[in-house]
Amino acid sequence: MKRRIAILGSTGSIGTQTLDIVRQHRDMFEVELISANSSTGLLVQQAKEFDVNNVVICDESKYAEVAEGLKDSGSKVFAGIDSLCSLVAAEDVDIVVGAMVGFSGLRPTLAALEAGKIVALANKETLVAAGSIVTRTMREHNAVILPVDSEHSAIFQCLLAAQGNAVEKIHLTASGGPFRTWSKEQIAAATATQALKHPNWSMGSKVTIDSSTMMNKGFEVIEARWLFDIPAERINVVVHPESIIHSMVEFEDGAVIAQLASPDMREPIGFALSFPARIPVGNKKLDFGELGKLTFENADLDRFPCLALAYEAIKRGGNAPCALNSANEIAVAAYLKGEIGFYDIARLCEQALVGLNFVAAPSLDDIFATHNETAEKTRAVIR
Ligand code: MG
Repeated sequence: MKRRIAILGSTGSIGTQTLDIVRQHRDMFEVELISANSSTGLLVQQAKEFDVNNVVICDESKYAEVAEGLKDSGSKVFAGIDSLCSLVAAEDVDIVVGAMVGFSGLRPTLAALEAGKIVALANKETLVAAGSIVTRTMREHNAVILPVDSEHSAIFQCLLAAQGNAVEKIHLTASGGPFRTWSKEQIAAATATQALKHPNWSMGSKVTIDSSTMMNKGFEVIEARWLFDIPAERINVVVHPESIIHSMVEFEDGAVIAQLASPDMREPIGFALSFPARIPVGNKKLDFGELGKLTFENADLDRFPCLALAYEAIKRGGNAPCALNSANEIAVAAYLKGEIGFYDIARLCEQALVGLNFVAAPSLDDIFATHNETAEKTRAVIR
């Protein structure tokens, strides 16, 4: 039987690469549902190419445009997040690919988990903002989260070799981003255009800016804490500029298992879609003679303060990571528009943590309140 897939955020970087894998394996997968925030043209095109049953445009003002584009097709068109939440829970969906950007992915992800689905999760902000609620929901409903983030897919793959042995440490690799070798003064003056030039990965603009500040790596520490139930103190970030080793797991005897592949998101996406089988995904295979060597260095928390802030937020726990994520979303959007400087992103995030109304065991309502209040405060500071 074909695996029936729902792709939340089908027009983004992860969404389009997921569809590329489906295109290569039509005999294995069927696309049941796709959604986009506002990219109507590509959404319509995808619905036609993959003969998708249900299509959701989250921006309700664009419903008519999508409905018009698909009027002579077999696709049913819906608008808004509420529609998306009920459609992901439907019987005819086997795997939900969570590829929406930022906090907006939280509600549909929870809806999929409540329906006991397999969620291939790329939307790390969901775990950053509400890790305890997301993982509890998963357990309560016998749902499964398979990591799509390349580092977490790597850790998951390394853990298949654990044979029940306890993990001593996770070594989370980081490319170091475009400013790895820049001085603090150079980084302070960096423009969004410069920050968007990632050396190894081609990704969406939000995660590319997060990579340049290393907030992305900080979020990945928090993501790993929840996915693998390991305290953040035992998650070590190591800068590895070639992005060939996607992460490593260390055991008590000092043995380290690493996962390697060329930097291409189709590898972790494909593994989540076809797990436990492996399928070809069209990526470049490693040539070790051509690579020559792999290098490593420690992360510099002075030049990349966002990484330290993420460790601080997960150490405080409660709603602190949610506030950090919210402030970061607003700050990154402002930075992309040229409204603030590079280090203002870290400053705004730090202020959000300092001024937080701390809740130790937040409910979902507390998470939404923290997200919205922090966003408002951060916007006010920017103004
Ligand atoms: Mg990653």
